Parts: sequence; structure tokens; C-alpha cells
Amino acid sequence: MALAKKRIIIIGGGIIGLGTAIKLGRKFPNVEIVVLEKEPDVARHQSGNNSGVLHAGLYYKPGSIKARLAVSGIQEMIAFCQENNIRHEICGKLVVAVDPTEVERLHNLFDRGTKNGLKGMRLLKRKQMLEIEPHVAGVEAVHVPQEGIVDYVEVAHVMLKKIQEAGGQVVTRAKVIKLDQKSNGWLVETENPNAPPVISNTWEADYIVNCGGLHCDRVAELAGEKRDVRIVPFRGEYYKIKPERQNLVRNLIYPVPDPQFPFLGVHFTRLIEGGVEAGPNAVLALSREGYTWSKINVVDLWDALSFSGLWRFMAKHKRMSWDEIRRSFSKELFAQALQRLVPDIREADLAPGGAGVRAQAMSPEGELLQDFCLVERPRALHVLNAPSPGATASLAIGGEIAAYVSKNFAQ
Ligand SMILES: Cc1cc2nc3c(=O)[nH]c(=O)nc-3n(C[C@H](O)[C@H](O)[C@H](O)COP(=O)(O)OP(=O)(O)OC[C@H]3O[C@@H](n4cnc5c(N)ncnc54)[C@H](O)[C@@H]3O)c2cc1C
Repeated sequence: MALAKKRIIIIGGGIIGLGTAIKLGRKFPNVEIVVLEKEPDVARHQSGNNSGVLHAGLYYKPGSIKARLAVSGIQEMIAFCQENNIRHEICGKLVVAVDPTEVERLHNLFDRGTKNGLKGMRLLKRKQMLEIEPHVAGVEAVHVPQEGIVDYVEVAHVMLKKIQEAGGQVVTRAKVIKLDQKSNGWLVETENPNAPPVISNTWEADYIVNCGGLHCDRVAELAGEKRDVRIVPFRGEYYKIKPERQNLVRNLIYPVPDPQFPFLGVHFTRLIEGGVEAGPNAVLALSREGYTWSKINVVDLWDALSFSGLWRFMAKHKRMSWDEIRRSFSKELFAQALQRLVPDIREADLAPGGAGVRAQAMSPEGELLQDFCLVERPRALHVLNAPSPGATASLAIGGEIAAYVSKNFAQ
């Protein structure tokens, strides 16, 4: 393979693939940067179906890659929004201990945030909480002033434009179906999954970066990796608060997360485009791209059900898994979960909303990987776990990847 110009191929046009393309383009101005995305547009999956929150790094284990990249990531993301006139707002977030049993965990969270370097957080008693969110329940809260809201689809489209302006390519309708490693690079085979007859293409690459999100473990397998750790898709469903009741929530209201459970618990989020959402819950999706219960993919379902990790996970979290399923089918139960945070909210205030599917990596022991997971191989790097706050941290993750690549790749 003798390309005139060296080429790095990024598989996946979600926000992390795009953030990576921007950072690699800056680091390697003489290298051709190509993003291959199977959908007709970028940000069609996790990056386009999330809560739109700019997370500051409150929750993550001090010293973890996640904590480090969330803290630097939010600053980079805000700067990117400012430079490119992307609508965003730093509105602050309230994390609420609804009863005295949650206060110790709330304080632990505050300590965690402090260790992660968050500035300006405050522990609030009930009277002060009500000044920020007049309808909130609870006995104590942490206020995180630097968090905010944005539309990550808008961010992704600006990223796409930046990549193109810098001379990179983002090729849509290009699903990577085969990766062949050669002595000095890769042959990357793609097909257009949406167009009969299928249009195929073969690309040469000196280096590949796998940002395949919900399919990252499968893309890694195409490159010869074992799938010991597997992606398990957890759907998060939302309701919209009816316009006449949106006054119940000013900004962002979150519960104290359960330390046994990796997701944050249903919360209230004001959207940058207007409106307020409640959710997301977390239920096993019956397809990697299963945005509703009726979307079932037999291959994906078998993949999940034949994975010992999932059974171990469900055995460990029986009660929680069952409660989440019941809440998914019962608006009344969903409303009850929300009433812990905002007692005045009623079932009738909730209108159907959208859903997102989280690409959550799980070990064969049934543990959910908490940290971001980047795996380096000769001429390849795989992003094998990048859940929330992956969107906030996407540029920082891209920077981290560019730093890894530059150790092993000369332009
Ligand atoms: C419900 C929900 C709420 C969330 N809330 C927040 C939040 O408020 N704030 C926050 O910071 N983060 C949040 N996150 C997390 C955040 O959305 C993700 O961390 C981030 O979007 C991951 O980006 P990605 O590029 O890795 O994945 P994706 O956006 O899923 O992109 C992966 C891309 O790879 C493509 N692809 C896959 N296989 C192939 C192939 N073989 N060939 C070519 N292309 C392929 C897919 O089509 C897809 O476009 C949330 C996630 C969910 C699901």
C-alpha cells in the first residue's frame, strides 16, 4: 500500500468520532483524515439522542480518565460553542437528597466533585434550594453552577463543517464491514446499507480509530480483537413535560445517584431549544439501535442473552432491573419516580418523549465499565466504552486519542 498522503480513518460519525477527526486534523495537518459513518448523517445514535447536558465532572472517580476528561472537556466544549455561536447556556444543576438517608451520599458526591477540581459548588439547605428551584423536594442539595445545556446534534454539525474546512472528509452511508490488516496499514471495506443494490468501496488506511459507539466491540472484532468485554445496549426513555407545567422546573434537577448503579436516575432537564424533559430510565434494549420495545433485532438480542455478563448483571441487580422495566411500561410509576424530586408533577403532565440507547460496556463478570476505555493496538485505537459524559468530553477524548496516535504514528 503506497498512499501519496498518509490517511487515518475514523470509523463512526458520532460526536466522539467527529471530535477525534478535528483533533487529529490539527495534530497531523499533512495526513488525510476520513470519517466513515454508516448512517445518512452524523450524530444519528447516542450523540443525537441524549439529554443535552454539559456535565462538569461531579460524579466520576477521582483520578479516572472520565473525571479528567469531563473536567477539561466541559471547558473545551463551552469554548467551542462560544467560538462557533452554538446555542448553549450555563444554567447550573441541583442534585437533591430527597430524604435524610441520602444526605451522606450527597456529601460524598460533593467531596468527589471537590477532588475533581470543580469550583463554586455549594451545599444547600432546603431554604436555599427553593431559591433555585421553587418546586423541588428534598432536605439538602448540591448546586453545581458550571453545568449547562446544549444541543449535541448542532455541535456535531458544526464539527462536521470544521473537519471539511480543514480538508478532511466525512463519508456517510459507508458502513465498515471488513478490516484487513496489512504490514503497513489497513484495507477498510465499506458498503452502503441503505441502497439496494449495495454499493461497496475499499479504502486504504495507515491507521484506524474505532469510534463505533453501539457497535464498537463488533468493529474491534473485525480488526481481530476478542469481545471479552461486550456492549450491552441500555435504552433511556424520556417524557416531555407539558408546556403549561414547565414552570415546575427552572433548569436541571437530578437525584443523588445510586452508587450500585451506573446511570444517574431519572431527572429533569431543560432543553436548549425550549421545553423540559424527564428521564431517562434504563432498560435493556432488544436491539443495539432499539429505540422502542417493538424494535427487536434477533442477532443483537442473541448477542446480549448469550453473554454470561448480562445474566450476572441481572442477578446482581434483580430488583432494580425489574423496577426499571415496570416504570418503562407504566407512566404512573414513572411519574411516581419523578415526584420524589418534584412532588407537584402529575402523570397527566407527561407527554411521550424520545429515547436514546447507551452503549455500555460490560465485563463477563457482569460489571459495567465505569471509566472511558481506549485500547491501543499497532496502527489502531479502539474506543470501547464512552458513555455519559462522552458528549461533553468529546473534544477532550479526541485530544486524548490524538496524543495516543502521535506516539505511534509519524506523518
Ligand atoms: C440516553 C442518553 C443520555 C445521555 N446524556 C448525556 C448528556 O446529557 N451529556 C453527555 O455528555 N453525554 C450524554 N450521553 C452520552 C453521550 O451521548 C455519548 O457518550 C456520546 O454520544 C458517544 O458518542 P459516540 O460518537 O461514541 O457514539 P455515537 O453517537 O453512537 O456514534 C457512533 C457512530 O458510529 C457509527 N457506526 C457504528 N458502526 C459503524 C460501522 N460499522 N461503520 C460505520 N459507522 C459505524 C454509528 O452509526 C454512529 O453514528 C447520553 C447518552 C444516552 C444514550
